[in-house]
Amino acid sequence: MDIKKIEKIVSLCKRRGFIFQSSEIYGGLASTWDYGPLGVEMKRKIKNDWWHNIVTSRDNVVGMDAAILMHPKTWEASGHVENFHDPLVDCKHCKTRYRADHIDLDKPCERCGVKDWTEPRQFNLMFKTAIGPVEDSEEIAYLRPETAQGIFVNFSNVQATSRQKLPFGIAQIGKAFRNEITTGNFLFRTREFEQMELEFFVYPEETGKWLEYWCAERVEWFKQLGITAGKLRLRPHGADELAHYSSACYDVEYEFPFGWSELEGIADRGTFDLDQHNKTSGKKQTYFDPVSNRHIVPAVVEASAGVDRAFLTCLVDAYNEEEVRGEKRVVLKLSPKVAPITCAVFPLVNKAGQPEKALKIVKDIRQEFSAFYDAGGSIGRRYRRQDEAGTPFGVTVDHQTMEDDTVTLRDRDTMEQVRIPADQIRRALRERLSK
Ligand code: ATP
Repeated sequence: MDIKKIEKIVSLCKRRGFIFQSSEIYGGLASTWDYGPLGVEMKRKIKNDWWHNIVTSRDNVVGMDAAILMHPKTWEASGHVENFHDPLVDCKHCKTRYRADHIDLDKPCERCGVKDWTEPRQFNLMFKTAIGPVEDSEEIAYLRPETAQGIFVNFSNVQATSRQKLPFGIAQIGKAFRNEITTGNFLFRTREFEQMELEFFVYPEETGKWLEYWCAERVEWFKQLGITAGKLRLRPHGADELAHYSSACYDVEYEFPFGWSELEGIADRGTFDLDQHNKTSGKKQTYFDPVSNRHIVPAVVEASAGVDRAFLTCLVDAYNEEEVRGEKRVVLKLSPKVAPITCAVFPLVNKAGQPEKALKIVKDIRQEFSAFYDAGGSIGRRYRRQDEAGTPFGVTVDHQTMEDDTVTLRDRDTMEQVRIPADQIRRALRERLSK
């Protein structure tokens, strides 16, 4: 497999302004990344698409946005203080640190070739911080390791105000933090990341049905984001892999250059979380069931996806190197849904009224789509830059435009150009985007 592909993507991301290493001028912070001008647009499009798919296109899912800092009791109740550990081992010889469940301890260290491991130790993944100027144990807080708990502790608030009836969901997008033992593979595993989480509350006897439903929905979402279907799969967890709260779980996985890896976990969390918060807070997080006239604790099916992993998947899946007339072309064949720029506009020459006309066209396109004006360098170079940025369409204003008000519209993938009237550009883009 082409492991080098990730390195090439990291370098393209920097070159084009998708992703920069965090605090690069100070030597960078390991496995921490900043989204640049193109990256932030693409990330936003992915999140907006998820939000529309999960929340605004449905009657029975509502959104919320909880604080990152929560009462520390939350994490005692959720089991994270006690159970959110990964087993850590060190190579005594070269001091490299590994997650014990990621390597074979019967084999030597892959870094130095010596087999001399420490005993595995449990390492809590939550980042601790202190609230207020005095550091003592009373003031400890954690950066949330998942957004889900912000939803569970607000279950009653949201249900009462939205007047939703079972089954219904609460969704949230936000940052989460985990002090991962090992990070790497670019955006795949970082200590700060964003999650898109849906907690779907159901009658406890119906979790199986809803788990199946959400598995199918979520795989479909990745496909409609333009990800190659043959590189996606749904993998059931074995009993030894299940998290402390879960009785059944599926991972949506993608075949990355470094192997099949998780994009999203879809889990039956049962009534665990609401039960725990009921017990620990003494405040009822229950649901009055109008059918049975009783208060019940709903069960929950969770679909938890990483924004950054979805972003990385889009990039990896879209990255292509081709030969065009004897020259190498690097192109990101991103779906127009997530491409940071929908249409680039170029004047063929920087005179004869062409720049003014092109700028007018940009302004018009921007009423509906993202557009970018580029007048720098040869037209070939401008196309190549946009190919690397994943821009699906390019409009060129040339001398004929000044005579008959037509432009050429170029397709990134086929590189074919058609001539259309300038006032039809938005219609043409609309048509192509709806395909
Ligand atoms: P892994 O086994 O890869 O550590 P996990 O099973 O602990 O992941 P979950 O707790 O199910 O992950 O988190 C849900 C989703 O959040 C994951 O599918 C992933 O997309 C994202 N995610 C979790 N940890 C990270 C991380 N360190 N960096 C980036 N994304 C992450």
